[in-house]
Amino acid sequence: MANLSEPSSSLSFSSSSHLSNGSITHETSAAAATLEVISLTKLSSSLEHLVSDNSPPFSDADVVVEGVSVGVHRCILAVRSKFFKELFDKKNNNNGCVEKEGKPSYNMNEFLPYGKIGLEAFQVFLSYLYTGKLKASPMEVSTCVDTHCAHDACRPAIDFAVELMYASSIFQIPEMVSLFQRRLLNFVDKALVEDIIPILVVAFHCQCSQLVSQCVDRVTRSDLDSISIEKELPYEVAESIRLLRCKPPTEAEDGEAVVVPLREKQIRRIQKALDSDDVELVKLLLTESDVTLDDATALHYAAAYCDPKVVSEILALRLADVNRRNSRGYTVLHIAAMRKEPSVIMSLLAKGASASELTLDGRSAFNICQRLTRPKDYHAKTEQGKETNKDRICIDVLEREMRRNPMAGDVSVTSHTMADDMHMRLLYLENRGITLRRDLPRLFISAIVHAPLINWSKI
Ligand SMILES: [Zn+2]
Repeated sequence: MANLSEPSSSLSFSSSSHLSNGSITHETSAAAATLEVISLTKLSSSLEHLVSDNSPPFSDADVVVEGVSVGVHRCILAVRSKFFKELFDKKNNNNGCVEKEGKPSYNMNEFLPYGKIGLEAFQVFLSYLYTGKLKASPMEVSTCVDTHCAHDACRPAIDFAVELMYASSIFQIPEMVSLFQRRLLNFVDKALVEDIIPILVVAFHCQCSQLVSQCVDRVTRSDLDSISIEKELPYEVAESIRLLRCKPPTEAEDGEAVVVPLREKQIRRIQKALDSDDVELVKLLLTESDVTLDDATALHYAAAYCDPKVVSEILALRLADVNRRNSRGYTVLHIAAMRKEPSVIMSLLAKGASASELTLDGRSAFNICQRLTRPKDYHAKTEQGKETNKDRICIDVLEREMRRNPMAGDVSVTSHTMADDMHMRLLYLENRGITLRRDLPRLFISAIVHAPLINWSKI
C-alpha cells in the first residue's frame, strides 16, 4: 500500500512548483527531485528481484548460457533492447528458439556472430537492463588466482569487460557500449601487450574506432611478434599494423633487402610445415638450409599453436634448445603457460624445461598461468567423464616443479616427484573419460616410480 501512495505525493510536490516565490519554487523542485530519485531507486530495487536468481517469478522465456537456463521476461528485454524486440517479434521462430516446459528457450551461442558472453557477464548485463544500474563485477570471474595481483589489468579482468562489451554491442545498448569502451581504454596502457589482443578483437567487431586506434597504436609500438599478430588478429587489423611498422625504404640496406627475406621465407616454410603437423617435412627443410629449429623458434611456435603431439615430436628430434628464449625473452615453457595446455607443459618439463626461468619483467611460467586463471575455473570440480580442469593442472604442475627444482636447467627427476606427476597425469586421463579405478593411479605409480624418464606426450 505504501508503494501506491508514493507516486501521488510525488505528484503533489511537482504540482506546487508554480508558486511565484523563487526560493519556495527552488525548494519544492529540489524536494520533487529527491522524491523522484527515491521512487526510481525503489523501482530499480523492485525490478532487481526479477533477476536475483536464474528462475525469477513470472519469467516467460529462457536464455541458455554455458549450459545454465536463465529465466527472462520478454516484455522487459523487448523495451530495453532493440535486438530482443526484433527477436521476440519474429512470427516464425526460426531463430534458435525451442519450446521447453511451455516456454521459449534461446541458446546464447545462436545470438553470437563473434566473441563469447559467459553466464556471469550475461547476469550483470541483464541486471543493468532490469534496474538501470551496473553491478560490480563478480570476483570469481573478473580476478585471477595470483594473490599478489592487483587485478587492475590481468587477463580475467580484461576478459570480463570484453564479454560485457560483446553483450552491450550485440544486444544494442549504446550507453553500455560507451561505458565499456571507456573501461577497455583504461586497460590499453596498463595491460601486457598480449592481453591487448582480445580488446582489439572486440573493438574491431563492435566498431569502436577510438578503441581500435589506441590498441593498434600500442601493438604497433610494442615488440609483439608478427606471427602472433597475424594469427590472433583480424586480417584488416594485422595488415594495418604491418604497414605502420614497415621501415621507410631508405632505412633498408641493399644487402639486407636480399638476405633477410630469404631467411624469413625458410623460417615461414618450417612454421607452415608445423601448421600441417608434418614433422617429416620440418626435418627435410632443416637439411635444405642452414636455418635451425632454434633460428625458427620452432618449439615456441609449436607450443603456441600446434597439436601437443607435434610439440613432443619436435622435442624428440633433440635438435632444439628447450630453454631458449625468443626475441621477447620468453622461454618455450612461458609460451606453453600462456596457452594453458597441460600436456605441452608436461612434455616440456619432462625434457628439461626450467620452471624457474623468469620473463624479462620477472614472471615465471607459474605466475603466467596464475594471472590467466579465474578463481571459478581453478576451483571448478570436474565431473567424471567430463573434460578435466586444465587450468588447475597447469598451475599445480608448475608449482610443484618450482618447489622441487628451483635451479634452472636441472633435468633430474626424483622418484617422489615423478610419482606426483604420474598421479596428476592419471587424473587427467581419468577425467577425459578413460575409466580408471579410483585406487589404480597409486598402484600404478608404485610400479613405475623407478622407471626411466617418461615421455608424457606418448601417454
Ligand atoms: Zn589478477
